[in-house]
Amino acid sequence: MKPCIILLGPPGSGKGSQTEKLKSFLGFQTVSTGDLVRSQIKGQTSIGLEIEPFLKEGRLVPDELIVQLFKEWIKDNQDAKGFILDGFPRTLEQAYIFNKDIVGKFNLKVQVIYLEVSVDLLISRMLTRLICNKCKAVYNTTSKPPKHLNQCDECGEALERRQDDNPETIVTRNKEYMSLTAPLVEFFLENLVTINGDQDSEKVFSDIMKGLNNGNLN
Ligand SMILES: [Zn+2]
Repeated sequence: MKPCIILLGPPGSGKGSQTEKLKSFLGFQTVSTGDLVRSQIKGQTSIGLEIEPFLKEGRLVPDELIVQLFKEWIKDNQDAKGFILDGFPRTLEQAYIFNKDIVGKFNLKVQVIYLEVSVDLLISRMLTRLICNKCKAVYNTTSKPPKHLNQCDECGEALERRQDDNPETIVTRNKEYMSLTAPLVEFFLENLVTINGDQDSEKVFSDIMKGLNNGNLN
């Protein structure tokens, strides 16, 4: 069986950076929904052509199409040692279709990591976050400050706070996330490990590795 790690957690929980750490440590393949959508549209593939009108009209892409994207991607990456899915499945419907159409067909051993974080921490993390609009590097004034005040280490551009990083939008985004994704925690309960995402990033990573080993990842 091929390991397939699914990372669940609200925006700001550190999913992205944990995905990168896991990828370099385990040598698994990873992709985000956004990257898949963009590449299919750019390549004008048959799925890309189906998805394009939804994006143009600002409508939600149907769950079946999103799952189809991942199915094709897994099919195209059969030589991978394993997979890390960041931000997929996002809804209960996607999870059902994923289980039905992908898990058995590609002989995947699914392990779900749920990063649980407190809303207070999400707020304080986001309020201290700075981004570079030019190269998209992300900093944090407390945990990862730039070498020079408000200046990007990579490209020297001035750093800014994201427009939507304010307490109200964070609470709203978190509520949206919880109502949409919390049922997934229930759905995957058998193969799920909950990690305390309030800890520092290294401790979160070591807890994830412990959780994966207890589930006999390899
Ligand atoms: Zn930069």
